[in-house]
Amino acid sequence: MVERPKSDKLYERALRVIPGGVNSPVRAFAAVGGKPVFIDRGEKAELIDADGNRYIDFCGSWGPLILGHAHPEVLQAIGETAAMGTSFGASSHLEVELAEYVIGKVKPLEKIRFVSSGTEAVMSAIRLARGFTGRDKIIKFNGCYHGHTDYLLVKAGSGLATFGEPSSRGVPADFAAHTLVADLDDMDSVTGHFNRYGDQIAAMIIEPIPANNGLLLQRPEFLKFLREITARHGALLIFDEVISGFRVGWGGAAEMYGIIPDLMTFGKVIGGGLPVGALGGRAEIMDKLSPLGGVYQAGTLSGNPVAMAAGLKTLQILERDNGYVKLEILGGYFEQALKQALKKTVAQVIRVGSIIWTVYQKDAPRRTDRIDTAAIDKFNRDHRAILDKGVYLPPSGYEVMFVSLAHTKPMLDRAAAIIGEVSGA
Ligand SMILES: *Cc1c(COP(=O)(O)O)cnc(C)c1O
Repeated sequence: MVERPKSDKLYERALRVIPGGVNSPVRAFAAVGGKPVFIDRGEKAELIDADGNRYIDFCGSWGPLILGHAHPEVLQAIGETAAMGTSFGASSHLEVELAEYVIGKVKPLEKIRFVSSGTEAVMSAIRLARGFTGRDKIIKFNGCYHGHTDYLLVKAGSGLATFGEPSSRGVPADFAAHTLVADLDDMDSVTGHFNRYGDQIAAMIIEPIPANNGLLLQRPEFLKFLREITARHGALLIFDEVISGFRVGWGGAAEMYGIIPDLMTFGKVIGGGLPVGALGGRAEIMDKLSPLGGVYQAGTLSGNPVAMAAGLKTLQILERDNGYVKLEILGGYFEQALKQALKKTVAQVIRVGSIIWTVYQKDAPRRTDRIDTAAIDKFNRDHRAILDKGVYLPPSGYEVMFVSLAHTKPMLDRAAAIIGEVSGA
């Protein structure tokens, strides 16, 4: 077992002053056991912990770091922008530039507004959908994560076609009462809600590439059905592309599946490692936001110049370097290496572009209840041994891996071999 005395000391100190020692719960390594690792720095595709141990990183800060850590050109853009002032509370040119750039790449967008996190983007998009339609109810899917807004921290209630129940303490049942929960890959569960509440449903929100509860790739027909049924009932379709946006290609999942949602939300990659979220869609809808319309939405640090600079530079580098083509090649290479390394065990290696999930069961699940808890337990049991051999996987079997442009084929080979050594027997 690798000893990490400095990491352990930091964790002890953190436990005294921060709940659970962490500022976001999954960082506590609760699912995989053992103490969390404190990171000192990132270099390209590697993390270096407080004790100087190196890891090939497949977390990528949970998705944003598509170029890898500390990309020199992104750092330069951040430095040059910060030197001119870090925040003005007034408009500046970088907001316009990033907005123009993003709208130029993502077909369903006519207007966009920047916020500071994915949670905020989704919360604002739902308020906007409600304001635009004059309706209150929303549909979300079991197993999709949309940030920690109260009425989205909801799981399916018991019984068919019922309202959701809060999945967190501190969320009044009333707040969940407007949230209907449907199942992925299940048209009947969606139709049931529309049959009962069709004229009260403001919006349906989905991760078109569900990647927060394993990687539950959906059938294209299912997503097309969602577009059709929402349009038929006058409800908006919101694609939460906080992970998939600028990760699977320029147009995200919307382009991949050839579907035009009414609203889209972004985060993660769009901020290049700094706090940025965004919501966008048709002008007719977006113009309902204040100051033009009656849907209030605001933010002290929204459109922050330093964050805009990091996001814009990241996207420009992806374009210049043919990023998505390379990521597809690297992702495919890693998929094959993992399949080879795990061929003696029961495992699925599921991939879209540079998002990869391994799950130790016989079939690829499309919905939450098809994930075998024993498969997740196996991942969680093996996590520490893989970490100790120098591969940093996200600390839960339900989390996906991200490949970046900084990963090299030898690194991917080495990581696959280590995963195979630990989990492949
Ligand atoms: C990460 C994520 C969010 C929340 O974003 P934060 O920046 O963590 O608030 C929302 N939706 C999806 C699909 C996400 O993956």
